[in-house]
Amino acid sequence: MEYKAFMIKYAEIGTKGKNRYVFEDVLCNRIKEHVDKLGDFVIRREYGRIFLEAESSFDYEDVITELQKVFGIIGICPIVVEDSVDFDSIKNKSIEYMGKRYGNKNLTFKVYTRRADKSFPMQSMEVNSEIGHYLLEEFSDYKVDVHNPDVMLTIELREKVYIYSETIKGAGGLPVGTNGKAMLLLSGGIDSPVAGYMISKRGVELEAIYFNAPPYTSEHAKQKVIDLARIVSEYSGPIRLHIVNFTDIQLAIYEKCPHDELTIIMRRYMMRIAEDIAKANSCQALITGESIGQVASQTMQSLYCTNEVCTLPVFRPCIGMDKQDIIDISEKIDTYETSILPYEDCCTIFVAKHPVTKPNLDIIKRSETKLTDVIDELYKTAIDTIEVCEIKPE
Ligand code: ATP
Ligand code: MG
Repeated sequence: MEYKAFMIKYAEIGTKGKNRYVFEDVLCNRIKEHVDKLGDFVIRREYGRIFLEAESSFDYEDVITELQKVFGIIGICPIVVEDSVDFDSIKNKSIEYMGKRYGNKNLTFKVYTRRADKSFPMQSMEVNSEIGHYLLEEFSDYKVDVHNPDVMLTIELREKVYIYSETIKGAGGLPVGTNGKAMLLLSGGIDSPVAGYMISKRGVELEAIYFNAPPYTSEHAKQKVIDLARIVSEYSGPIRLHIVNFTDIQLAIYEKCPHDELTIIMRRYMMRIAEDIAKANSCQALITGESIGQVASQTMQSLYCTNEVCTLPVFRPCIGMDKQDIIDISEKIDTYETSILPYEDCCTIFVAKHPVTKPNLDIIKRSETKLTDVIDELYKTAIDTIEVCEIKPE
């Protein structure tokens, strides 16, 4: 069966009135960006539906794979289109569709007609039974089952007639670009790419920031983060990645502050820098891959100390998830294999043997005063020497 068109279903919740058009516009743009490289397509709208019609040959599997990465789509239906909205044409097209798609084999079916065009002279029920009747006549091995059919032949009567029997699951969520922008603290680990994916799924555009510690971390570690950003961008769209040289700040903390507090103090500086860069780039929030209790720096007391330096909201979508649940998502979105590559991370290099698990904010703040002489200069240099990479989906 060769399809030339798809009907795109999207959730209509929260998209009433004026917002609906913004939502549909953005979704159409996102679909176009995803399928552009796969052929010539026309994207068309009819109330509550988006149609993707091919004007060139294309690879069916590739188009489905791309459409499944577009947030905001809940279902993808490969359709056949009949231009004439009259009963005989609908009948002929239905028979042709079933013949090509399934042939005459043992199956149960049901016809389901949706009449968006109420001027059509027959009631939906009437169309269902008439078409059902003709199908039974044409295909001797078919049986009707209205409760649990193998095949539900759906006929939508609109400006044209759309016939389909399959709905392939979409990614859900909201189209990227309908909900502002956030700065993802992207490490080379498993959790932060998943966190970025989850927030992007709610329609949020992403920028990302990576704290690099050369020469303690290698080019491989940096490349790994660039690769992860690229995989996430397959869903989120382009990501501007800010790469901060964090080495001198880490060395200063290492030299001047108590070693069991290193991680917390370091994480507070990461959040401060991330927030500054976020604000300078019109981001309205930060995103991290933190999860309660996963490591010493993610106990409730540690999260409290880290969070205290931020004024922007910090989104932590993995916060209540078990590691395995996070891994499951990273496998699904294809970041897992890259995340587990064994390159060192800036956090793992300056880590204490016994980090505090219940840091006290006043004590942490007092320790930070030991950096007073050097930190402003180091902070400024770190910001001034940021390297920016524009990451695009392949
Ligand atoms: P991940 O798997 O995302 O690396 P993790 O379990 O290793 O997380 P931590 O190392 O404590 O946890 O980091 C917690 C969060 O802080 C990360 O999810 C990420 O958002 C941020 N983070 C940690 N290291 C860096 C880094 N080098 N650059 C940017 N963000 C970082
Ligand atoms: Mg990590």
